[in-house]
Amino acid sequence: MTVPQIKLNNGVQIPQLGMGVFKMQNEAEFYQAFQWALEIGYRHFDTAAFYGNEQWLGAAIKKAGIDRKELFITSKLWPTQFQEPEKAYQQSLDRLGMDYLDLYLIHWPAPGFESAWSGMEKLYHDHQVRAIGVSNFLEKHLSAIAGPDKVTPAVDQLEIHPYFQRSDLLQHLQQQGIAVEAWGPLGQARNGVFDEPVLKTIAQAHHKTVQQVILRWHLQRQTIIFPKSIHQERLQQNFEVFDFELTASEMQQIAQLDKQQPNGSNPADQDFLD
Ligand code: NAD
Repeated sequence: MTVPQIKLNNGVQIPQLGMGVFKMQNEAEFYQAFQWALEIGYRHFDTAAFYGNEQWLGAAIKKAGIDRKELFITSKLWPTQFQEPEKAYQQSLDRLGMDYLDLYLIHWPAPGFESAWSGMEKLYHDHQVRAIGVSNFLEKHLSAIAGPDKVTPAVDQLEIHPYFQRSDLLQHLQQQGIAVEAWGPLGQARNGVFDEPVLKTIAQAHHKTVQQVILRWHLQRQTIIFPKSIHQERLQQNFEVFDFELTASEMQQIAQLDKQQPNGSNPADQDFLD
């Protein structure tokens, strides 16, 4: 199975499906999940300095002996290092044991994100990173870093799932050529989304699971996803989403599930959005 690629606004291609590595318990668990993911066909991995596991990812890649060029690796700049994006980037590279990232994001629009973006632009202009982008940015944050001599972010990584669909923001970003990545694409398995009757009925009709239906819904909205799992069968299941298609009516039924209910980024994170 080959994962479709999405072309970013600077021409770089990103696999539309990858694996997220937030909240991994320990290195052994990480290594096993990574190994299964590689065998299944995953080539895109989403980490962050904040996740504390860049080192594990780097070690797992080295141990697997896979060619770096076959992988698409994303990491993120945490607000405590907004004053020193170049140093933070180098530290991420050192932890990963790499000499470039495919995508580097500002993790949250915390105070100081405007100057952090200038540092990201410098990394990009110096050809140290293939693409730069943002995460958890709303329109107002994007406006604050826009301008004639500015780099338009290639990506905005946002919380999106059936109970928090953000359709207007998604459409606005896509119209501007900013690709949207959906974090927590399975709603982090919270709020009973896996028991949603509408999703269950659609899943039965396609002989698929509710999780596969949710992931397929994302793909058909042209969002980039990297669900997280440490279980082999779930990693496999999450990858088998390219052999069926939701009808327009099914997409519409899922659209109606929107509760505009974020999963709760923690309150400190929410402050960044004000
Ligand atoms: P997710 O929506 O991917 O849900 C993960 C949970 O769903 C797992 O704990 C697992 O128990 C369950 N799950 C996964 N596949 C399943 C399956 N097939 N069947 C049943 N249960 C299944 O949530 P997430 O991990 O928070 O988000 C994915 C990735 O997004 C993260 O790993 C991280 O890379 C990224 N992320 C980014 C931000 C940000 O601020 N930019 C925030 C959170 C997460």
